[in-house]
Amino acid sequence: MSSSPGPIPSSWVSTGHLPTPEVVQSLVREAHAQFGSVDQGRVAHGIPALATASPQSFGISVAATNGATFNAGDWAVPFSIQSLSKPFLFALVCEAIGEQLARDTLGVNSTGLPFNSVLAVERTEEGLSNPMVNAGAIAATSLVPGEDAEAKWRFILDGLSRFAGRRLEVDAAVYQSEQATNAGNENIASLLSAHQQLWCEPRTAIDLYTRQCALLVTAQDLALMACTLANGGRQPLSGETVIAPLICRRVLAVMVTAGLYETSGDWLYQIGLPGKSGVSGGMITVAPGKGALATWSPPLDEAGNSVRGQLTAHFLSERLGLNLFDSRPSGEAIGQAP
Ligand code: GLN
Repeated sequence: MSSSPGPIPSSWVSTGHLPTPEVVQSLVREAHAQFGSVDQGRVAHGIPALATASPQSFGISVAATNGATFNAGDWAVPFSIQSLSKPFLFALVCEAIGEQLARDTLGVNSTGLPFNSVLAVERTEEGLSNPMVNAGAIAATSLVPGEDAEAKWRFILDGLSRFAGRRLEVDAAVYQSEQATNAGNENIASLLSAHQQLWCEPRTAIDLYTRQCALLVTAQDLALMACTLANGGRQPLSGETVIAPLICRRVLAVMVTAGLYETSGDWLYQIGLPGKSGVSGGMITVAPGKGALATWSPPLDEAGNSVRGQLTAHFLSERLGLNLFDSRPSGEAIGQAP
């Protein structure tokens, strides 16, 4: 499908709300207790600095659009954001160049391929993928405005910090470790460049992307960042408008399509919400209008998605009544969440 016109304006938006704060807090604690003992999955080993993460670490944070947060376990422990930077960076690029141009330039279709696939670039003649996999994310980073690498980095750091509502910092050890073992992403950047899909020097794009992935966040930061996407682009604590409501829609759409890479269909089938995973074990799940969930647990499945993160998202999506595809026959009583 080619570019379509923008949305037809309407003042009516149908969303809903989370159950009471007591219910949310108690379900967050229950999920932590229930899934803390799951010992499946394997800590990422591709980036040496991530391989030392403790498989026991497990944090959960839910943020409501009114700014309330509900936490359990290691919710305040920092870890590198990795691929969870991708939806937010895409949002900032949409805001900078316009969401139609961002879509036409980067692509928004699923690749059905692993996150680090080089084939993702070769798949189409134009070299388009989507901004949730490394190829499209590196291309998105190369579109960041700024006259030189430092100005581009300031844009990225300022933008991601505005989503978090606090100044984020780079984990120097993770940054250096990934830089030293970055052959896969360097290959992707060369291929993008050969397809005229890179808008700055390949070396600059890779350096910015790697730095962006090494930013430190906690599960609570991520819940608030993701909650900004659930809240029409307004950060629930700072009150700052980070992006426009329409861009939230666009970002959530690509998260649905490709947030969990080649297992995005399985995720949507079971959880029914936009989600995104990262190789350091973080996951975000967004319930538009209601709030967002973030988890951190390093052991990953084969596709690179946190095992406990997926179990928690499934449990909370069900128990908090978040699945976007859920409905009840008209006239049937809808029970209160437990
Ligand atoms: N920095 C990682 C990479 O580019 C991010 C990948 C991920 O989190 N899945 O390989």
